[in-house]
Amino acid sequence: MKLKGILDYDCTNYKKPTLTLMFPTCTFKCDWVNSARVCQNSSLVNEPDVEITKEKIWELYEGNPLTQGFCFQGLEPFDSIVDLYEIIDFIRIEKKCNDDIVIYTGYERDECKEDIEKLKKYPNIIIKWGRFIMN
Ligand code: SF4
Repeated sequence: MKLKGILDYDCTNYKKPTLTLMFPTCTFKCDWVNSARVCQNSSLVNEPDVEITKEKIWELYEGNPLTQGFCFQGLEPFDSIVDLYEIIDFIRIEKKCNDDIVIYTGYERDECKEDIEKLKKYPNIIIKWGRFIMN
């Protein structure tokens, strides 16, 4: 899958240490056109993409005894929906791992009704909804 980056030990995004994936695209719905400053991930936009397999992501997670969950964040995880489902399914079904999965999205709940229904089959998915609002 394509990403902007990966942190194999991240203590800044969740109450537990996570392995964090930075998704590669966004439609910049938080008003990027009018002012670059309203996208909190603007520094990532021009970073090169990296390719990584779900097996390698799992290897990094399993190999770190300190991490206790996964964080999926910006740019925008829901704009890479095929990869998002694939990695969640791999963790939950193939690896039988129910550790916390936290998704930070700039979408509102009512913009993702179909995706919410699909994600409901997996336990323990935590989603932080809504546009980034400065201050
Ligand atoms: S959803 Fe995230 S990456 Fe997209 S415009 Fe908003 S802050 Fe930036």
